[in-house]
Amino acid sequence: MAARVTVLSLLVEELKNGRVKVVDLTQPLGPDTPVIDLPPMFAPSPPFSMETISHYDDKGPAWYWNTIHLGEHTGTHFDAPIHWVTGKDYANNSTDTIPVSRFVGPACVVDVSKEVAHYEDFLLTREHVLAWEGEHGKIQPGSWFLLRTDWSKRQGREAFLNAKADGPHSPGLHKDCVQFLAQERDVLGVGVETVGTDAGQAGAFDPPFPCHTFMHGAGKFGLASLKNLDQLPATGAVVIAAPLKIVNGSGSPLRVLALVPTE
Ligand code: MN
Repeated sequence: MAARVTVLSLLVEELKNGRVKVVDLTQPLGPDTPVIDLPPMFAPSPPFSMETISHYDDKGPAWYWNTIHLGEHTGTHFDAPIHWVTGKDYANNSTDTIPVSRFVGPACVVDVSKEVAHYEDFLLTREHVLAWEGEHGKIQPGSWFLLRTDWSKRQGREAFLNAKADGPHSPGLHKDCVQFLAQERDVLGVGVETVGTDAGQAGAFDPPFPCHTFMHGAGKFGLASLKNLDQLPATGAVVIAAPLKIVNGSGSPLRVLALVPTE
């Protein structure tokens, strides 16, 4: 009996023949992974650290494993609505209770890498998104909104965090754009290449950290420290971003994968 053709059997075939490829949107996670710097009156998140439990030695002759220690928001990571005070009262707002269907969604990728190369504090506006939609079509509800800035190509902690006397400088989204995406486009959330979903200077915005405030205030998610967004088409990729099932977790490091058509 011939196997029934389904969308999943076709996907398996396309993965096998290379017409769909899997792109890794994840940064390596280690002691050198940059962690967000907050002003000194706030508690800092520790850097990633790892210690060996055993390494084929007296502590475990046939096995190798480690203990890891890190903040939930380290490296390529997921922000759950409960991460922000504006999202704290939603049902199913933590990493263990979000319905898993929301961890898979289509990606809309807006490329502002040229603008960011000229101006590191670049903020995406509603008008930019409307212009993108004029070219690529309206953003469908339940889409990931991914901001390609090429910021992930910066080498080393200093260049990546880009801290100056007046705080960090990195691109992000204007608050009107965030509200538009959350309310009028009903996105799953926003994904960025920078250390957090807000712009570097966003602590001084009104309100502070508008991307966190309005995205999580609408029950939506964030993805930070993504890479390889330059390998994604403007539309047509599917992103799989499932955080660890930490009980009452505010977020977690994760492996973010994109399924991308190659022709
Ligand atoms: Mn975060």
